[in-house]
Amino acid sequence: MNNTVFVTGGAGFIGSAVIRRLLSEHDVTVVNIDKLTYAGNLETLNAESESEKYVFEQRDICDRDSIDALFENYRPKAIMHLAAESHVDRSIDGPAEFIQTNIVGTYNLLEATRNYLSSQNDADGFRFHHISTDEVFGSLGDHGLFTEESPYDPNSPYSASKASSDHLVRAWHETFGLPVVLSNCSNNYGPYQYPEKLLPVIISKVVAAEPIPVYGTGSNVRDWLYVDDHASALIQIMQEGQVGRSYNVGGNEEKTNLEVVKTVCGILDELRPASGGGMHERLIEFVADRPGHDQRYAIDASRIQRELGWEPQESFESGMRKTVQWYLDNQEWIEMITRKNQSAGQRLGVIKKS
Ligand code: NAD
Repeated sequence: MNNTVFVTGGAGFIGSAVIRRLLSEHDVTVVNIDKLTYAGNLETLNAESESEKYVFEQRDICDRDSIDALFENYRPKAIMHLAAESHVDRSIDGPAEFIQTNIVGTYNLLEATRNYLSSQNDADGFRFHHISTDEVFGSLGDHGLFTEESPYDPNSPYSASKASSDHLVRAWHETFGLPVVLSNCSNNYGPYQYPEKLLPVIISKVVAAEPIPVYGTGSNVRDWLYVDDHASALIQIMQEGQVGRSYNVGGNEEKTNLEVVKTVCGILDELRPASGGGMHERLIEFVADRPGHDQRYAIDASRIQRELGWEPQESFESGMRKTVQWYLDNQEWIEMITRKNQSAGQRLGVIKKS
């Protein structure tokens, strides 16, 4: 084993933030393993691709032979597994890819890792870090927080596929002794998020002076975390987390979707005033709710704070301001993604329950 870290899904939103941080702050070589689905973009890593400590391998995590070959070739000391189908609305329109990548793909990585470690004399320092979501815990009422002990109760095809993968990772630890750590995080926002998620959608709609779609009444509550804070938590968990343990990661910033939209509109009122005057929030348009839309997620992140000393650096206000400014400064990035994929920013996942 050498100082190499595998990052699956490194061309995605969170994976690319992890790679930027690994290369700028840690003495490791990074192998980015990504299939480059519609959500993967190497342009997010233009600067990093110049580094001698960065390698890109275009691979499908469901292809066992090619993952085995990567282990053989690079002999990593850790794998940070972020590759996934990640958009709830897409999982409603087409769950098959979610089952394949999130469940079968994770199973493949676990088996490839097990095979690799069986050939090592000393596998002690190795870590398999599985990155997951708070959505596996289902929906909360008005009170309470998800802890690491909360029962799993997923409601969407996406969260059910992530819950399945969490269970597989835990089972490979209990049954085969695989040295795993897990983390479940709340909603991320920040630069380079694919323009189908709430934040980039709001900003793009305001810039285009188009209606901003808000699902249902906008009363669904999520906890929000700036993506670089998530990246720092993930690296710390990979390096210092206790084997077999899981860590909840969150920003302690619960907001309704409507509050998020109004906050972003308020920042844009300052940074990019509407041409005819008036407030951007007049563009808000309430649209049909997502089927099975979980009402509230909230995270108790006290374990990672207590045991690893991690806490977020950005507040909701400061993180949102940075994010809005980034999208305004990088409009060509959104335009490039939208040109590549016409469905970016379109409404998905509106089926009628039978
Ligand atoms: P993303 O959709 O932006 O990126 C996913 C990446 O995985 C893409 O680069 C894609 O090309 C790659 N990929 C997909 N299928 C693949 C396959 N079969 N083989 C190899 N690569 C493949 O996702 P994200 O928002 O960066 O999320 C990353 C991880 O974090 C996911 O596991 C997600 O469940 C988890 N997570 C996300 C959030 C969030 O708010 N975005 C919150 C908590 C947890």
